[in-house]
Amino acid sequence: MSWATSLGRFRRVRPSAATRAGVGRPRGRRRRNLLLYLLAFVIMLLVAAGSLVRFTGPQQPSVVADVIARAKAPRAAPPSGLTIPVAGVRADALADSWGQAREGGARAHQGIDIMAPRGVPVVAASAGTVERLFTSGAGGTTVYVRSPDRRWTYYYAHLAAYAPGLAEGAAVRAGQQLGYVGDTGNAGPGNYHLHFGMSRMRLGDGWWEGEAVNPFPLLVGGARRS
Ligand SMILES: [Zn+2]
Repeated sequence: MSWATSLGRFRRVRPSAATRAGVGRPRGRRRRNLLLYLLAFVIMLLVAAGSLVRFTGPQQPSVVADVIARAKAPRAAPPSGLTIPVAGVRADALADSWGQAREGGARAHQGIDIMAPRGVPVVAASAGTVERLFTSGAGGTTVYVRSPDRRWTYYYAHLAAYAPGLAEGAAVRAGQQLGYVGDTGNAGPGNYHLHFGMSRMRLGDGWWEGEAVNPFPLLVGGARRS
């Protein structure tokens, strides 16, 4: 039954004999009203479902596509021969703090902490280009170095200061000084250490992106002492 016919019948029903006589009118009207309410309800449901599709539609496929693209992309082999990024620290002095709970379990530690006194030189674990010098609440004074093939980013955080002349865009050699061990960011006052992280990057990823990888096994297995 279309809207027009249903409305037409609704109108026609008024002057009918049955109505005037007071017979059958309440029940017929109630049924029609019930039908109209049902129809309105169904329309509302359809509109709600439509807006749900509109809000979740564009997001979900892009997230899924991103995960699929990442899974399909050829994975960069982990770099070998990394330099331990704090001067004078031996491989057997390193502790694996990857994955430890941080912020009361709100997140997992994505990197390792290398304890050292304040001011000890922080050096590049591997060669690359200084992609970003960044100050953040968590990391404090930080450096992001991108590997020459752009597949890896090395992250150095909580620095007391940068090495003189360090600038974005500058090429660095493995073992070259980047800065000094400090306690900036959320390290905690006096808790001097280098937070060192590394991320596997897709070529188009920005310096803040990438997939964090535990550097510990790479540093203790065949790492060079600086
Ligand atoms: Zn850390």
